[in-house]
Amino acid sequence: MSSNFMNTTRDQKFILKEWLDMNTVFATDRFKDGYTVDDLDFILDNALKGAKEVVGPSCEDSDQIGCQFENGKVITPQSSKDAYFFIVNNGFAGSNVDPDDESALPMTVVWALNEYFIAANPSIQTLWLANSGAAGLIRDFGSEELKNTYCPKMYSGEWAGTMDLTEPQAGSDVGDSTTKAIPTDDPGVYLIKGTKCFISGGEQDITDNIIHLTLARIEGAAKGTRGLSLFVVPKYLPDADGNPGLWNDINCAGIEHKLGHRGSPTCVVNFGEEGTCKGFLLGNPPGEDGTGAGMMQMFKMMNEERLMSGLSGCALAASAYHNSVEYANDRIQGRATTNPKAGRCNIIKHEDVKRMLMYQKSHIEAFRAMILSTFWWVDIENYSSDPDLHQLAKIFLEVNTPIVKAYCSDVSLQCISEALQIYGGYGFSEEYPVAEIYRDARIYPIWEGTNYIQSLDLVGRKMTMRKGQVFAAWVKHIEDFVAANKEAAGFEKEFEIYVNAMAKYGETLQTLMALFATPGMAQQFATRVLHATGKLWAGKLLLEMALIAQKKIDELGTDHFDYPFYAGKVASARFFIKNIIPEITAFLEVAKNADTTVLEVPEEIFFV
Ligand SMILES: Cc1cc2nc3c(=O)[nH]c(=O)nc-3n(C[C@H](O)[C@H](O)[C@H](O)COP(=O)(O)OP(=O)(O)OC[C@H]3O[C@@H](n4cnc5c(N)ncnc54)[C@H](O)[C@@H]3O)c2cc1C
Repeated sequence: MSSNFMNTTRDQKFILKEWLDMNTVFATDRFKDGYTVDDLDFILDNALKGAKEVVGPSCEDSDQIGCQFENGKVITPQSSKDAYFFIVNNGFAGSNVDPDDESALPMTVVWALNEYFIAANPSIQTLWLANSGAAGLIRDFGSEELKNTYCPKMYSGEWAGTMDLTEPQAGSDVGDSTTKAIPTDDPGVYLIKGTKCFISGGEQDITDNIIHLTLARIEGAAKGTRGLSLFVVPKYLPDADGNPGLWNDINCAGIEHKLGHRGSPTCVVNFGEEGTCKGFLLGNPPGEDGTGAGMMQMFKMMNEERLMSGLSGCALAASAYHNSVEYANDRIQGRATTNPKAGRCNIIKHEDVKRMLMYQKSHIEAFRAMILSTFWWVDIENYSSDPDLHQLAKIFLEVNTPIVKAYCSDVSLQCISEALQIYGGYGFSEEYPVAEIYRDARIYPIWEGTNYIQSLDLVGRKMTMRKGQVFAAWVKHIEDFVAANKEAAGFEKEFEIYVNAMAKYGETLQTLMALFATPGMAQQFATRVLHATGKLWAGKLLLEMALIAQKKIDELGTDHFDYPFYAGKVASARFFIKNIIPEITAFLEVAKNADTTVLEVPEEIFFV
């Protein structure tokens, strides 16, 4: 036994129905004739049921049997296939994320549901989640012919999509890519030659065709990322009827054997060993200056995948948390400090166990709020006709994306570690679920650009964008919230701590900006700046939700069946503000120390 997916729908319902203004999204032209807020309970309950009953049971095979590689073919467990088709055929993925499908749900809702399906079997998430991202690239940048040939089959999940950037010598630095695209006499058609590695779903036996969205350099294009172009490279070339036809000279050379996600075929893919692999260019070839559109195009998919990585961390942390709550309630060990004479007690009564539960609960609620509010802005950007909201959406999406990716995926590992700790020695054992969750979640800080790359994006690009105006507008949103609510009855201490941390955060950034003139300083502080910014944002969201919850408590009273939920929301905010937010204050001292050890230390000291 390893996996045991657990989650609830209560917090998602609070976020979508009591906190985020989903009516604004449902009122847009895109959604006004479709679902309403009243449909959300049914949608969420159904998704959780499907994730638990159908997808969850496939997780054990994915982890224990994993993928097999035989004679160039990848074999996945039958249960992975069943779970994949359950997800895509029931419209949870696929049609729900095809923007042209009338029955599509808003992204905010789709990603609330995806939390369940990802955690139910993380190994197969790459197989169903990449389809819509890859199809989206063809939809946005492809010719009519490419769109008609590929999009319907990819959105429906009949064909799978992959994203192919990484090469053995080109990981974080995608610009070192050596995969070539050689023009043919057919405009827009190129011969692709090169090797990609770590390609999720690069080969599998689940779908009839695999469509690789592949970065390659057209002969003569500029060096670095600037010269890359993006190609649609199908495993089988579609025939005249649009069905998989001739094999397109793509070979899987092997699968990577991984710490987690063992049921996800992560492949080394060779393109054009026989010189006949055809790739179809998206958009135009590079102009005279050698600049291709590939990286800019790929960023559309990568930004979505970055949000997906943050959500995945949250999803797995939530499952680990619910498992650890159940275990803490069942496990008898020791005597309660408050009542030792009562005999042995369940460990949930111990203060340190409750502390670990609060750490997980408050962080997970913060992650979920960060992620779903960001997808709310995605819906606004895509569908709102309000120009002011559009402007704000751009700001939030720019700044939120690297924080969601890196802060949520990093800290979710700490949450899962606390869940594992609650199990004591049993947590370290594969017979209990958290061990696998911990292994599976370890990928999220690594892929889609390591979390250092995200931190550099925040510090080097987003904070300085338009002379700092974008980031200033992002911070102002927090300041406005604090100004409007800092007198809230019962939360005076929390706001005092928060206001103090905000001032220290501002001082820290000023201190660091001066230091960043020294080469290497921005790089050594980037990750810590991202984490401080993540904490600041998380604290604001938790406070915002706690104020709503407190109002509900005042209205409903403590006898109401839902009281524990609202009391929990208030407790999450109080715990986070009093225990985590002061770390921002401590970071100011670190910044003031302006330590240069990392910059000065000779590499030799590490080899002793
Ligand atoms: C399970 C899995 C699935 C994946 N799926 C896909 C996929 O579908 N498609 C795809 O294209 N790729 C995929 N990848 C590849 C993944 O995106 C890369 O592993 C990742 O981008 C890091 O590249 P790398 O492994 O070469 O590490 P490297 O780039 O070698 O980095 C190693 C370490 O050095 C740090 N580092 C690197 N350069 C710098 C620098 N300039 N300054 C400071 N620090 C630096 C990194 O942050 C990291 O900590 C997958 C990987 C895994 C493990």
